[in-house]
Amino acid sequence: MTTNRKVLMLAGDGIGPEVMHEAARMIEWMNDYRGAAFEIQEGLCGGAAYDAHGTSLTDETLADAMAADAVLFGSVGGPKWDDVPRDERPEAGLLRLRKEMDLFANLRPATVFDALAEASTLKADVVSGLDLMIVRELTAGVYFGTPRGTDRLPDGTRRGFDTEVYTEPEIERVARVAFELARKRANKVHSVEKANVMESGVFWREIVTALHKAEYSDVELHHMYADNCAMQLVRQPKQFDVIVTNNLFGDVLSDCAAMLTGSLGMLPSASLGAPGEDGRRKALYEPVHGSAPDIAGQSLANPVAMMLSYSMMLRYSFDMAEEADLVEQAVENVLAGGLRTADIMQEKTAKVSTGVMGDAVLREMGKLDRQGDRRAANI
Ligand code: NAD
Repeated sequence: MTTNRKVLMLAGDGIGPEVMHEAARMIEWMNDYRGAAFEIQEGLCGGAAYDAHGTSLTDETLADAMAADAVLFGSVGGPKWDDVPRDERPEAGLLRLRKEMDLFANLRPATVFDALAEASTLKADVVSGLDLMIVRELTAGVYFGTPRGTDRLPDGTRRGFDTEVYTEPEIERVARVAFELARKRANKVHSVEKANVMESGVFWREIVTALHKAEYSDVELHHMYADNCAMQLVRQPKQFDVIVTNNLFGDVLSDCAAMLTGSLGMLPSASLGAPGEDGRRKALYEPVHGSAPDIAGQSLANPVAMMLSYSMMLRYSFDMAEEADLVEQAVENVLAGGLRTADIMQEKTAKVSTGVMGDAVLREMGKLDRQGDRRAANI
């Protein structure tokens, strides 16, 4: 018997509902043609929740997220809520979700589809075929460490300070995610810190090295300083498979890697928590982009980042690698066929709306699925 896979959909604001609609059609497709048994529940988050309930995330929606097998998230925010008190801002809903679900590992793939290699600011041959994954620690480090604040020194001058702090379990659990991922990819991890100048960096390196020796010696491990990593990302990005790093360096390096790929509208992400008693991790999947108020409601949004976030869900929450490959291959084929939303337009390509892009990817999934059936029948 197939158990239902419970997914909570939080479309959010701006283009969130437009791109989520295309992911929802994809989920329906998986149920119809792959017997995937996804059970969808919808909820409000961000400005939409604030308008309806006076808070950007209700306790009920949070409880639904905790009970779901995975959360699919659109985007939140927009000028409409600029004057809302800080604690109720749309973004606060997302931050609360991440905190309560203890989503400590943020996975940001940077993949360049061949058809878009020319869209990168780097030379096509440097990025063509790029496929790397940044694993950023998301719930500790300098963004949360104490003491933090400002004070006045005895000489009357002021100072500001934050604290970079990591415990052994915090480093171990995120490194474990990176090693496990690498085993399913090209089997290589770069652990990134500043062990040359930071005590917490020396400690990070020590813990990662010990874990590698004890449990993951089959994976190729390299240590790299964060400044060198930034340089290598734009010089020779294809040397990387999985990069694991702390919250601060991950914030900077993942945006740097994102730009190698050309457009925000193409970039998915996953945030994973610790495995529960049933072995399943809490998980939230969302595009990297925001709510894009400048194009909301005009069918201009690129739905690919949202679709690829769903394919990450298939891969990492439901172990459905074949279906995830199908989604990714369909996107690749549609791009190769010359269809583009406005954000990724190039010469000699056809501009299409959000919905037409969604139609094309679904059609291509059907085609690939039938080809797979025919190949299986001929074996
Ligand atoms: P943004 O990502 O929303 O938009 C940046 C630019 O990229 C805009 O020109 C937009 O039109 C374009 N863009 C983004 N996604 C696109 C897509 N799928 N297709 C085509 N073009 C796309 O960032 P911003 O303008 O800095 O922020 C807008 C709002 O979104 C703010 O309120 C911000 O706080 C919020 N935001 C939310 C999240 C989130 O929900 N995780 C992330 C970032 C920003």
